[in-house]
Amino acid sequence: MTVKSDIEIAREAKSKPISEVAAKLGIPADAIIPYGTTKAKLSFDFINALNTRPNGKLILVTAISPTPAGEGKTTTTVGLTDGLNRIGQKAMCALREPSLGPSFGMKGGAAGGGYAQVVPMEDINLHFTGDFHAITSAHNLLSALIDNHIYWGNKLGIDSRRVEWRRVLDMNDRALRSILNSLGGVSNGYPRQDGFDITVASEVMAILCLASDLKDLQNRLGNIIVAYTRDKAPIRARDLNADGAMTVLLKDALMPNMVQTLENNPAFLHGGPFANIAHGCNSVLATKSALKVADYVVTEAGFGADLGAEKFFDIKCRKAGLSPDACVIVATVRALKMHGGVAKDDLKTENADAVAKGCANLKRHIENVGKFGVPAVVAINRFITDTDAEIQEVMKAAEEMGTRAFLCTHWADGGKGTEALAAHVVEVANSGKAAFKPLYPDSMPLRDKVRTIATEIYRAADISCDGTIEKRFKELEEMGFGHLPVCMAKTQYSFSTDPTKRGAPEGHIVPIRELRLSAGAEFVVVITGEIMTMPGLPRVPAADTIRLNEEGQIEGLF
Ligand code: ADP
Ligand code: MG
Repeated sequence: MTVKSDIEIAREAKSKPISEVAAKLGIPADAIIPYGTTKAKLSFDFINALNTRPNGKLILVTAISPTPAGEGKTTTTVGLTDGLNRIGQKAMCALREPSLGPSFGMKGGAAGGGYAQVVPMEDINLHFTGDFHAITSAHNLLSALIDNHIYWGNKLGIDSRRVEWRRVLDMNDRALRSILNSLGGVSNGYPRQDGFDITVASEVMAILCLASDLKDLQNRLGNIIVAYTRDKAPIRARDLNADGAMTVLLKDALMPNMVQTLENNPAFLHGGPFANIAHGCNSVLATKSALKVADYVVTEAGFGADLGAEKFFDIKCRKAGLSPDACVIVATVRALKMHGGVAKDDLKTENADAVAKGCANLKRHIENVGKFGVPAVVAINRFITDTDAEIQEVMKAAEEMGTRAFLCTHWADGGKGTEALAAHVVEVANSGKAAFKPLYPDSMPLRDKVRTIATEIYRAADISCDGTIEKRFKELEEMGFGHLPVCMAKTQYSFSTDPTKRGAPEGHIVPIRELRLSAGAEFVVVITGEIMTMPGLPRVPAADTIRLNEEGQIEGLF
């Protein structure tokens, strides 16, 4: 059997004009700003007038701990949206925009897969509507203003050894991780150590995704702490008068983007913050607008549920006042087999016992989601190699946890493959069972927040902090940031901080290595291991074979 590639399937899509897709949700033509014929932004006038409407139901798609075998959260988010529409519901999805840089490293897009994709996928994975370029520009404007301020006399007394604001680029370029800037003589400024992160790691990205409107965006941008003085007083973007100009650069980027699924159902794709040093979900504005125009909104959080769902609940939902009605945990037989101890090369051999063993991972995620008061359902994202006996093990595990698992074939069949899941999700979302609550209160001290997540979600025995970290916790409380939520940066592959410990390890210690304040995004990043904020390209990057063919179509990208 020959399987069509994602791009081949996407190219065969019979896309409708975006105005027609918007009309399905009762969004009038004058409320959208078209970018071509199949992409559009939603105008602020329209968004602002939505306030009085009731909210639809919010469904989070998350997953078991990821493995190299793949889980398919985005694919399932799109598939479920199509399934909900097929059973007659007014549903849409809200997803992140993919980053351009990684497309030239490893092959593979981030707009779903198979027959569950959003289109136009090439645009979505490349420049799209320019949001990431705008974020890059706004970020780098602030970088330029810092060095310019130092150059022209440094009235604020910025300690050039304590500039925390780096530069960004939407490109995997390890050569820029650590650089010296301002070299070349007096007229080029004061040389200092600097570096680049990838755009999705920018605090501006996280801010754009958490801002409730343009005013809030500007306020948060102004709050960014960019550097410290010699006596460690914080310097904010506002002190450099950067917030106004940055907001000007971001005014269009803040409007949610609308596209469609392969089955012509509406999708918002907006913002794409890193899932480690940021919260890893699409913008609050897109999710909130979606809840006003659709009856069911399906959204995705990055990584596994221990990181993605926890941050979605504790950061995004808490801050934006969202209250999810149901949570779908995506599992694959292949990944569960790996959690049960099978090596990647042996995944094609049936092994129901390993699946049963690996279900320890799934079960813990189900239990964890319950701690937020949100009912969980399992979606088995079917791969062609899965056997019935293996699938039965997943069904059994879900039932043992008091929930249900549904076999979903959206990757091969589109929305038809998620109808049973969709019908159940509708039932659960309307059952009144959801009683969302964050894991910890705002008032809990920062250190206790971290410990609560580690023990309740990661099932660690404790956290460990050296003297510097303990001091930093105290400093942050004294600076008035004790009420912020924490944003955990941990390996996504394990409940522990050791990526090789699959399954459901417990009783481990979570060492806290660093704390970073994101004063504009309003969270404290807690780093528990090596965190890469500027990826590199592999030995043979995808760029090697990417080209335009005779018909002017892109080849080699996906
Ligand atoms: P996630 O959002 O969890 O990172 P994606 O939905 O983006 O995962 O899927 C990752 C990759 O796996 C995509 O390239 C997609 O085409 C592929 N994929 C997803 N589900 C299936 C499936 N059931 N069979 C084969 N490939 C799949
Ligand atoms: Mg995804």
